[in-house]
Amino acid sequence: MLLTLTTTHSPATDLGHLLRKNPANAHTFELSFGNAHVYYPEASPERCMAALLVEVDPVRLVRKRAGAAGEARRLEEYVNDRPYAASSFLSVAIAQVFGSALAGQSKERPELAARPIPLAATLPVLPCRGGEEFVAKLFAPLGYRVTSARLPLDARHADWGESPYCRVTLEGTVTLQRLLSHLYVLVPVLDNDKHYWVGDDEVKKLLRRGAGWLAEHPEREAITLRYLKYQRGLVSDALAQLADESDPDPDATARAQAEEEATVERTLSLNEQRLGTVLAALKASAARSVLDLGCGEGRLLRMLLKERQFTRITGVDVSQIALERAARTLRYERMPPLQKERIRLLHGSLLYRDARLAGYDAAAVVEVVEHLDSARLAAFERVLFEFARPRSVVLTTPNREFNATWPSLPAGKFRHRDHRFEWTRSEFREWAAGVASRRGYAVRFLAVGLEDPELGPPTQMGVFTNTAPAPGAGAQEEARGISEDLTA
Ligand code: SAH
Repeated sequence: MLLTLTTTHSPATDLGHLLRKNPANAHTFELSFGNAHVYYPEASPERCMAALLVEVDPVRLVRKRAGAAGEARRLEEYVNDRPYAASSFLSVAIAQVFGSALAGQSKERPELAARPIPLAATLPVLPCRGGEEFVAKLFAPLGYRVTSARLPLDARHADWGESPYCRVTLEGTVTLQRLLSHLYVLVPVLDNDKHYWVGDDEVKKLLRRGAGWLAEHPEREAITLRYLKYQRGLVSDALAQLADESDPDPDATARAQAEEEATVERTLSLNEQRLGTVLAALKASAARSVLDLGCGEGRLLRMLLKERQFTRITGVDVSQIALERAARTLRYERMPPLQKERIRLLHGSLLYRDARLAGYDAAAVVEVVEHLDSARLAAFERVLFEFARPRSVVLTTPNREFNATWPSLPAGKFRHRDHRFEWTRSEFREWAAGVASRRGYAVRFLAVGLEDPELGPPTQMGVFTNTAPAPGAGAQEEARGISEDLTA
């Protein structure tokens, strides 16, 4: 696997001092899992590029792993992406080969080590679990210009589609120490597969390398969850420590927002009415398999589980925290095996085509569309109505007109701070009718909650029914795999 670091700071060859590796030579280091080499493809006073090439030896890894001699090995242990994909092995190599730079120290150029300089890092093969969008969400808030290009599965067979890897370049004016700590933490987060056991030490490592940036990072929950491999105890420990560092506490803000939304809607216990109506529509559709897209904390999932009609129930959400809460709401851990078989929780975004969503009878999309950027509604439309293509879709969204009746909601405000828009009745109908006619569905509109004679109901609902059973061309190429960006 390869990482290149380039600077145009003048003189650029000072990069050699910062990394403590002379640009005139090639350097080789032995690591526990293979060798690392540092060399400079370019070293002029104007531009200097250092390359860190890490050779991971899968055979050595297999041999090192504990296990009885002669134990059967899976092919995957020998043949995998570890030799070329950037992963936690790269982080280990950075710490071992560029240790002083990672600590912000330089014997020869201490002042330069503390100074932001123009730097670019290129990772030719970076696993992008979570999509290119997630790469941008991780690095853009840290001040980088992010360029990423999805790599094909096989360059000679364009029709095989895309791989889960991207070529990524990050450019910015930062200290080398910051750049290296960002890579140290975020490369394994994108890879989402650590090569070593994650224990208590990892919390300390994460907090040390994340010092000065992680506490304020908008994706810090996702970063922490993935970095600590979803080990709840460690994650809450780390998040609590991060919360102490950052002010205001985004978790507290999220809680306050949820409460605010709840108070606004409580008067009507609108939430229960909404879920009740959605459930009734799903039952009426005679569906047996159901998707709950943007399932949040799993309130609808819990209701679905109680109905024997539904034999396959899948909750999908982009937020890991929401999924964790859903698992708790459902008491997933303690469910009897037969119940467990009925339910699945999937981490995924509704803006990316996802083969896991195909083949369901019905989908519920409850109070989710208004959380999507309106520019990405077209991608959502294709993901759901072209590729996943369930027979029925039950979708709810607020009716903006109704907001005027809520004294607790200031005029012109949405019901929730994360809402990107709220539609009037005619705006919703126009969108829904457009989707239906483009995608071969019929749509009916229903009101949820007590209707105001002028302003309509608090929540509006569309029930879409597939009228063109033959799937579109798109649904047939499903084998291309999950998570394709449709907005690119
Ligand atoms: N359906 C639930 C939650 C609604 S809140 C209920 O009615 O209680 C909106 C949910 O949509 C949140 O859980 C949020 O994480 C999720 N969400 C937002 N954008 C998403 C996306 N692009 N893909 C999947 N889920 C998304």
